[in-house]
Amino acid sequence: SPELARAESLIRSIPDHPSPGILFRDITPLLADADALQATTEALVTPFAGTFDVVAGVEARGFILAGSAAVVAGTGLVPIRKAGKLPRPAASVDYALEYGTATIEMHDDLPAGTRILLIDDVLATGGTLDAGRQLIERLGYVVAGISVLFEIEGLGGREVVGDVHTVFRSA
Ligand code: IMP
Repeated sequence: SPELARAESLIRSIPDHPSPGILFRDITPLLADADALQATTEALVTPFAGTFDVVAGVEARGFILAGSAAVVAGTGLVPIRKAGKLPRPAASVDYALEYGTATIEMHDDLPAGTRILLIDDVLATGGTLDAGRQLIERLGYVVAGISVLFEIEGLGGREVVGDVHTVFRSA
């Protein structure tokens, strides 16, 4: 659609951020635009309409789109946070970063079997979303789908995460 094409044009690439050799995809100009935010949020949730009960987002940028997606879909939102932030974590998953490891945690206040749409802003190596999927399943919930705004191709993320819907992809 023209709205989505315009939204895509608002994603900018910043060389050498946060470290030399990294081409950082910056979605903040897209987020700042009302029509672009609306169109991309709808594109994130529409393929999964009626298949999920709640949206989950991964700290920190995943929270932004998970929030707009939950409102558009008419569902609630569950945060997946970095270790030590949630007051009553029920499970945690460790995963590898480029340098070192990270840990994410989640509460278990939903009924078993709740269908969760997992959302993030950027898919790179896939480690973050794969960990999010493991966390959801460990707590007895169901991953209804994984939806991401921007896929950086060539880093193997799709192979790691499996079935993932991405609105935009790097050329
Ligand atoms: P992955 O785990 O390697 O797939 O990295 C994905 C995570 O890192 C997501 O939560 C993103 O927020 C973040 N990320 C990685 N690369 C970028 C980028 O180029 N722009 C914005 N976020 C990124």
